[in-house]
Amino acid sequence: MRDTVLGLRWLLPILLLVLSSCRGGDSQTVHKSTQFLMGTIVEVAVVAPPQTAKASIHAVFEELKRVEDLTSFHKPSELSRINDSAGRGSIRANPEVFNLIKQALKFAELTGGAFEPTLGPLSKLWNFSGESEARVPEPHEVREALAKTGFQRIRVDVASQTLTLPESGMSLDLGGIAKGYALDRARAVLQDAGVSGALVNAGGDILAMGEKGPGKPWRIGIQDPRIPRGIVAVASVKDKFIVTSGDYERFIEKDGTRYHHILDPTTGYSARGLQSVTVIAPSGVAADALSTAVFVLGAEKGLKLIESTPDVEALIIDSMGRQFRSSGAATMIEIQG
Ligand code: ADP
Ligand code: MG
Repeated sequence: MRDTVLGLRWLLPILLLVLSSCRGGDSQTVHKSTQFLMGTIVEVAVVAPPQTAKASIHAVFEELKRVEDLTSFHKPSELSRINDSAGRGSIRANPEVFNLIKQALKFAELTGGAFEPTLGPLSKLWNFSGESEARVPEPHEVREALAKTGFQRIRVDVASQTLTLPESGMSLDLGGIAKGYALDRARAVLQDAGVSGALVNAGGDILAMGEKGPGKPWRIGIQDPRIPRGIVAVASVKDKFIVTSGDYERFIEKDGTRYHHILDPTTGYSARGLQSVTVIAPSGVAADALSTAVFVLGAEKGLKLIESTPDVEALIIDSMGRQFRSSGAATMIEIQG
């Protein structure tokens, strides 16, 4: 899809900045490798001796592939098996996917439904992350798809690890949280391998593990949503997940209107009012789900949500290009002049 490719090209400045942050006079060497996974370019950089670095980078890519095979919406996966059961009674889910769905439903509740993991019918209609072209659907199609959404309708039985999607055509799309989960798993794999410093960048969803060097935080460029290769801010972080949701990542334009992949669950159309939201959090799932949710909520309600969530900070850029930082973000995120 042409616009997706365009979106990916925009990610390059961030990748380059990350790469340059890995050089310098550190005594430990940084090893890097890149693969196309989860629909995006994934770059892994590890600070470790060569053998450990090579093995741990391989293990991270294997783990990301494994998570993708469990959670993919468009390709056959454990998630698509669950979605196929809609309207046909309850289904016993793989425990890991079951837990991820439970977490997604928790974020749906926390965000008053701004994060909505049951948007599958709309994702199919808009097709922003499918292999064929995205398109602007007819209003009646949007209405019909919307009628098959709603996180409160998903039944979860913890004792039997079963899920029920009560209506045929309902489906879960974990696209707003799966990459964050994959980054959580990447951190676990790196920890098991004895690595203490690493940077994993999955198309702008980033794990900054440990430090770049003793006493040196990782420095992450936050992309200008409207200027390719432009950086609006730099975050200095240690042991954090830093995830950006933007309207420039996957979009199409029709009659002068930009339609992008973050949907307002109340309308079924792209969420309006913001250009990008960057969230810094101690877990990947929180950073990912909250960046999507804040994008839907808008600057005012989004900032309130961030302020009420401990250990989470954000930088929000609205449709006028105005920037809003949460109160704790000032020490972490430096705005570029
Ligand atoms: P990206 O995947 O580009 O990093 P996000 O984390 O913001 O961006 O997730 C967007 C994806 O999440 C969409 O492609 C879709 O699969 C799904 N999605 C879209 N709107 C919502 C929403 N309101 N709540 C939860 N998931 C959403
Ligand atoms: Mg997200």
